Amino acid sequence: MNNANLSDRDLSVLWHPCTQMKDHENFPIIPIKTAQGVWLEDFDGNRYLDAISSWWVNLFGHTNPVINAALKDQLDTLEHTIFAGFTHESAIQLAEKLVEITPPGLNRCFYADNGSAAVEVALKMSFHYWRNLGKTHKTKFITLENSYHGETLGALAVGNVALYKATYAPLLMDVITVPSPDCYYCELGESWADYSTRRFALMEQILAEHADSVCAVIIEPLVQCAGNMRMYDAVYLKLLREACDKYAVHLIADEIAVGFGRTGTLFACEQAAITPDFMCLSKGLTGGYLPLSAVLTTDNIYQAFYDDYTKLTAFLHSHSYTGNALACRAGLATMTIFQQQNIIEKNHQLAKVMGIVATRFHAHPQVAEVRQTGMILAIELVKNKLTREPYPWQERRGLKVYRYALSKGVLLRPLGNVIYFMPPYVITEAELEWLADIAWQAIQHAVRD
Ligand code: PMP
Repeated sequence: MNNANLSDRDLSVLWHPCTQMKDHENFPIIPIKTAQGVWLEDFDGNRYLDAISSWWVNLFGHTNPVINAALKDQLDTLEHTIFAGFTHESAIQLAEKLVEITPPGLNRCFYADNGSAAVEVALKMSFHYWRNLGKTHKTKFITLENSYHGETLGALAVGNVALYKATYAPLLMDVITVPSPDCYYCELGESWADYSTRRFALMEQILAEHADSVCAVIIEPLVQCAGNMRMYDAVYLKLLREACDKYAVHLIADEIAVGFGRTGTLFACEQAAITPDFMCLSKGLTGGYLPLSAVLTTDNIYQAFYDDYTKLTAFLHSHSYTGNALACRAGLATMTIFQQQNIIEKNHQLAKVMGIVATRFHAHPQVAEVRQTGMILAIELVKNKLTREPYPWQERRGLKVYRYALSKGVLLRPLGNVIYFMPPYVITEAELEWLADIAWQAIQHAVRD
């Protein structure tokens, strides 16, 4: 078995996510044989540093011994059971843990099996809450420009990245889109906090105008990840929480990508000391092992559904794999690592090093901005540093970075022309330095002509 024959077999039967399959006429697909820590290894023995945590899911390295041991134990005890009318220890323990570690007031946990599904759950719950209260005029959602919340039709509708959304526009519900607080656009000398505050005025205005018909505002706290890792200040979250209370609109915090330490705190909402009405979690929830998501919500929301069956107020939403025992156990092991190994504190040092190794990119003639929030660092390439004119997307500069870095043993997967580091937390300082070296070379290669 080698890369070439597995690649051939793959391409004759498989259809990969987020991929123009024709690209693989020129670029082979890479079959991975084993993985350990931050390293993936293919069938020809090449190794790749997983600098993007395999689509932002992996936290503590591949084939992590603590999570492996927990899963092996779970496998011999209970693999899965229906989750309506039945329950199990791992689901209960994980829910207890999530209630404990998420912002105060989030006391209820509803499981689903991927990030998009969690977003659908939050949207439906919010709408249904108002309906149960007799407020049937509340049917709309407010979302931010440049946001991303997943690929299912509801989640896609509340997202705003044209590349994923535009084709399906005729299928999607109408939403109210508010300009983003994205600080890439702040004035020279203006702080992120000032810019985010200034941009909030636009949100306030929309809320004041439309609150009557709006169920919820949905946001990605601090970092719009799929929207090119654009960042904003926590003050926006604080103002938004206050305004949502004032106008009786829910706040849905999609922490699917930013949760579990990515922004420097366990949850991004902590940086604004707010409790959203719904918090969506997935990705890092199982340490990158198994598909699982959770929507945390408040007693107040829960109580609006709690009544005699004949009142027909129940939330009759389900997924076959809700509360899967193996996934919940991986989640529990992941939470144990956070607690026992003092991860958030250790990450402060790692984040500092990440910033230091990326210092050199600031002065690069094709780099418009190097931005960082906690364990997420992004480098934005542009055609013209002064005017910030972007490279035409057709030139696929990011793809050149991707291909070059792979040839040197690093998995970077730029978003358009934005190269970012979002590594597992077990990456070493030396590996971070090497990663920056390869990223530098890859950028030099990609901007050559
Ligand atoms: N919300 C955010 C903020 C995300 O980044 C993603 C995935 N990148 C999703 C939702 C969707 O999650 P999934 O891919 O598991 O459906």
